[in-house]
Amino acid sequence: MNCEDIVKCLSDYIDGDLPIEILEQAEKHMAACPNCTTALHTLQETIEAYRISGKARIAPEHRASLLSAIHEAVQHHQD
Ligand SMILES: [Zn+2]
Repeated sequence: MNCEDIVKCLSDYIDGDLPIEILEQAEKHMAACPNCTTALHTLQETIEAYRISGKARIAPEHRASLLSAIHEAVQHHQD
C-alpha cells in the first residue's frame, strides 16, 4: 500500500466502512509514513469536531475540500 492507496481509503475511513484487513494495511503504512499520519490526524480531528457539534456526518462540501487538500498534500510530498 502506498500514499495514493491511503488517500483512496480515507473516504471509506470517514464513514467507518473500511474493511478491517485494509485498515490494518493502512495503519501499517501510516506507522512508517509521517505524511499519511498527519493526513489521518487532520481527518480524525475534523470527524471529532463534527461529532462534538452533534453532526453525525461531515458535510459533503467540507468533506470534498478536506479530501482534496489531503490528496494534494500527499502528492506534493511524493514529488
Ligand atoms: Zn503515505
